[in-house]
Amino acid sequence: MKKKIWELGMTVLLLTGVFWLARTGARLTGADAGAGNGVVLIDSGHGGSDPGKIGIHQEKEKDINLQIAKRLKKQLEKNGVKVYMTRENDVDLSEGDGGNSKVQDLKRRCEMVRKIQPDCVLSIHQNSYPEEAIHGAQVFYYEDSSEGKKLAEILQKHLVEVLDKENHRQAKGNRTYYMLKKTEATLVIVECGFLSNNQEALLLTDEKYQSKVAKAICSGTLEYLSSLAEKK
Ligand SMILES: [Zn+2]
Repeated sequence: MKKKIWELGMTVLLLTGVFWLARTGARLTGADAGAGNGVVLIDSGHGGSDPGKIGIHQEKEKDINLQIAKRLKKQLEKNGVKVYMTRENDVDLSEGDGGNSKVQDLKRRCEMVRKIQPDCVLSIHQNSYPEEAIHGAQVFYYEDSSEGKKLAEILQKHLVEVLDKENHRQAKGNRTYYMLKKTEATLVIVECGFLSNNQEALLLTDEKYQSKVAKAICSGTLEYLSSLAEKK
C-alpha cells in the first residue's frame, strides 16, 4: 500500500512537472513571438502600368519593390507581426477605375493606411540618379513626424550594418513625397538602392541580396515596434 501511494505521489509530481514545463514553454514562445508584435503595412511602390524607375540593365523598379516586399512580409510574419500589403501582384491601384492616374493610385494607398491604421508603413522603392557612381540605401521620413524620423533612423542603421558599412547616407526628412504628406501614420520610404548604379542594380535583382535587404528592414522594424511596446 505504501508503495502504491508513493508511486501515485510520484506520478502526480511528474505530471505536474510536465504540465508546468509545457505551460512555461508555451508562454516563452508566445513572449518571443510577441516581442516585435504589431501591425505593419508594406507598400510596394508603383506597379501595373507604372514601372517606376528603369534600371541600367532595364530592371523595372516595380518588380524589385514587390520581390523585396514579399520577402519582408514573410520575415515579419515569422516574428509575429501582422502584415498588410498595398499590392501583392503587378497592379496599379487605380486600375478598374476607368483611368489609371498616378494620383488615384496614391490616393488608394493612403486610404488603405487610414483603414488599417498600422503601427507603421514601410514604402519600398528603388532609387535612380544621372551619375552612375551614386549608390547606397537611404530611408526618408516626413519632416514633421518625430516617429517617422525615429523609424527611419533605426532602419537606416540596420541597412548600413547589414548591406554596406561604407554607406554614409543618413535618414532624410522630406515634405514633398505624396505618401509622406498625405498620411497621418508613421510612414517611411525605403529606397533600397540605386538602379542607375551598375553593381547595385545587379545586386537588387539577386534573390540572396533581396533577402538581406528584407532582413535589414525586418530587424529595424522589430526594433522600432518593441520601442512602441515599451511605451504602452
Ligand atoms: Zn519608386
